Amino acid sequence: MAKTTDPSRVFTEPSYGWCHWHKGTSGTAVLIEMVERQSGPAYGLYACAPCREQRGLVPFVGQP
Ligand SMILES: [Zn+2]
Repeated sequence: MAKTTDPSRVFTEPSYGWCHWHKGTSGTAVLIEMVERQSGPAYGLYACAPCREQRGLVPFVGQP
């Protein structure tokens, strides 16, 4: 069996405590964006506080 490493697998699993911007765990990660996929359920992109500040990201639920 061929052994494949698929980094996108982690990326597609929505989870609190994971920052998709610096790609690491975080205790301050919040939902920024929901991404619709043609196959499978939508998944969320989460960003931690420092990444939100650096990139000017607005939490998904906080948008007017
Ligand atoms: Zn981050």
